Amino acid sequence: MSYEVIVVGGSFAGLAAALQLARARRRVLVIDAGVPRNRFARHAHGFLGHDGKPPSQITGESVQQLLRYPTAELRQGLAVSAQRDPDGFRLTLDDGTAVTAQRLLLATGVRDELPPLRGLQERWGETVIHCPYCHGYEIDGALGVLGWHPAALHQAMLVPDWGPTTLFTQGVLELDETQRADLAARGVQIEREPVLELLGDAPQLEGVRLADDRVVPLGGLFVAPKTHMASPLAEQLGCAFEEAPLGTVIRADDVGRTSVPGVFAAGDATTLFTNATRAAASGVMAGVAAHRSLFMGEAA
Ligand SMILES: Cc1cc2nc3c(=O)[nH]c(=O)nc-3n(C[C@H](O)[C@H](O)[C@H](O)COP(=O)(O)OP(=O)(O)OC[C@H]3O[C@@H](n4cnc5c(N)ncnc54)[C@H](O)[C@@H]3O)c2cc1C
Repeated sequence: MSYEVIVVGGSFAGLAAALQLARARRRVLVIDAGVPRNRFARHAHGFLGHDGKPPSQITGESVQQLLRYPTAELRQGLAVSAQRDPDGFRLTLDDGTAVTAQRLLLATGVRDELPPLRGLQERWGETVIHCPYCHGYEIDGALGVLGWHPAALHQAMLVPDWGPTTLFTQGVLELDETQRADLAARGVQIEREPVLELLGDAPQLEGVRLADDRVVPLGGLFVAPKTHMASPLAEQLGCAFEEAPLGTVIRADDVGRTSVPGVFAAGDATTLFTNATRAAASGVMAGVAAHRSLFMGEAA
């Protein structure tokens, strides 16, 4: 089957992009493997008009709205390879079928890498979180920030607005005097003894056990994950990447044009500052840019 645009990834960024293309009466296919980044969280917060809904409800309603447009299609599945084709691009899916399009829009998101700490993974998205704006309001009690990465310093400066905060330096963060003073001004306690495990009936958190066997009671622990591309498609297509503090992102301009003509990108795969609103907004921009490129070429 051939389309004008194929969007790979049917979550916040991809669905927002596809909606613009469908409303422009263009034939658009969304391919989605159904593994969005925030699948671990029962509720999504801070997304205007949808605060507190399950993320799958927000994207599910978005799919229903998209599929009302006769030129939009959705396929469940994984796009496993992408290559140039005389008329544009050819994608192969995990069931062996091939689809082609004049333009490709990658909204494939990222995969999070958490530190290997006992009790962490089963609390991810509930009491172990990375974004205070997304889930901090729902957590009661004392808060921790796991310093397994320099980004934790930034988190530790933010988090006190959501509760009394301890920064665990984990033998990784070396703080200079200015940083210590800044943290003290925010009321952040600093704990140098490493956290060994998380305690309580998961996904609830009661505290953390330190290497010297002390237990620090906590209601929530903030962890900045390292991120990896969730899909190899951008690399296969030869897109340029940029180093960001937590992982590489696809290089894309303000409207989602990548370094490869005809390939657009949006969402978490393109930015360090990630949330659902930003992903959807960048999807809108990339969808519009992909549409314009169909009749204006690279000058779009
Ligand atoms: C635990 C957690 C909780 C969060 N909570 C919030 C919150 O409350 N509010 C908020 O604003 N943000 C939240 N976020 C951030 C938010 O989840 C992301 O910013 C948002 O999901 C990014 O949207 P996206 O469309 O770029 O990528 P994703 O939502 O990750 O979607 C990418 C989609 O592409 C698909 N895909 C990838 N590769 C392929 C392929 N090769 N073929 C087919 N499909 C493919 C995936 O299966 C997935 O469905 C949270 C993040 C995490 C980790």
